[in-house]
Amino acid sequence: MQPFNPEQDLIETRREFGEHGGVTPSIARSSTFTVMDPEIMPEIFGGVRGPEKGGCFLYSRHFNPTVDILARYLSAMEGTEFAVCTSSGMSAISCTLLQLCQNGDHIVASDTIYGGTHALLADLLPQLGITTTFVNPTDPTAFEKAITKQTRVLFTETMGNPTLKISDIPALSKVAKAKGVSLVVDNTFTPMIFSPARLGADVVVYSMTKYINGASDLVAGAICATKEMIHRLMDLHTGRVMLLGPTMDPRMAYDIIQRLPHLAIRMREHSRRALAVCSRLHELGVPVTYPGLPSFAQHDLATQLINKGYGYGGMFTIDCGTRERADDLLDDLQNKEDFGYIAVSLGYFDTLMSCSGSSTSSEISQEEQLKMGLSPGLVRFSIGYTGTLEKRLEQIERAVKKIGLTTS
Ligand SMILES: *Cc1c(COP(=O)(O)O)cnc(C)c1O
Repeated sequence: MQPFNPEQDLIETRREFGEHGGVTPSIARSSTFTVMDPEIMPEIFGGVRGPEKGGCFLYSRHFNPTVDILARYLSAMEGTEFAVCTSSGMSAISCTLLQLCQNGDHIVASDTIYGGTHALLADLLPQLGITTTFVNPTDPTAFEKAITKQTRVLFTETMGNPTLKISDIPALSKVAKAKGVSLVVDNTFTPMIFSPARLGADVVVYSMTKYINGASDLVAGAICATKEMIHRLMDLHTGRVMLLGPTMDPRMAYDIIQRLPHLAIRMREHSRRALAVCSRLHELGVPVTYPGLPSFAQHDLATQLINKGYGYGGMFTIDCGTRERADDLLDDLQNKEDFGYIAVSLGYFDTLMSCSGSSTSSEISQEEQLKMGLSPGLVRFSIGYTGTLEKRLEQIERAVKKIGLTTS
């Protein structure tokens, strides 16, 4: 396989100057745009004559110059033909699935996914006649076996939430292609680290709320796919993004544009610190799960699929056994050690940590949580990169010893 370098691909896309030659792009804050020649209005409205074909922008729910810049950068980074930005990760996921599936259709999905996506698939979509079979994401044959005549989509997360299980995207892509269904992959946990489209995914979705923006100050999403798929999503009559309307504001797009150039640096540092912390915890005998540790069950698969030079990401978990001990650890790390914040979400420059079973996965029933390997005492960490690493190692070591999680 040819090595991918998303950082280089991103930088090689056209750099946008601001309106007066600024080194930052201008924010096009206009909901509508003036058409100078009334005769070409029908062509502009019909999408035949866009700004690149002698026409102009029309209306910002359709396309906006600033939001378009971000979409171009994202598609360059992912190696897809096109991308569209949305107002949240959930709208990126729901519009994609609603575009690919209709009443009567079927989805095969990983059983270890974000709680909101699980609720969409298990609770909301069945009300629209779209059903889902959940399978173990580490087993491509389980996906294959669950496919029926009605199946339109295979859905998974590259690194599953919160068990960090890795999906074998090339193997799933093979299954999807053989069966004529689409492979949709949520890569929110691992931008730049994995390039799912280049590994064979048809659609890559993101919650940009997390690592891509990296500042925990906004909510946003993106869909990266073929030109044909993005055109379908933006179709005037049936486009799910066009008509359900999760439009991104150009001010949001600007903020994210300004943070994309240092995404690679941030991902490397998240990864470096996660590996250092997890290696120390592993030495101490703490039940820690991190794809970068050789003890991780799918470490070799992860190593084979990642883009070299970005590490294994900033997400890891500690299994405290019970909810009570998880709460003790969280309390100690936040209120005594100042190690991080007890908060859901991820990808921030400070450490965020939460007990998954009682927070971001609480939409999933206790029974299903156990089936997918989610212990009630599982604490998920999104490691930050503030403060010195030495101090952080001391803080977490003291905390896990105090709670009695060490064996050596
Ligand atoms: C947060 C998250 C989402 C939902 O994204 P929003 O931006 O909150 O709508 C989807 N998938 C994963 C993996 C997430 O972490």
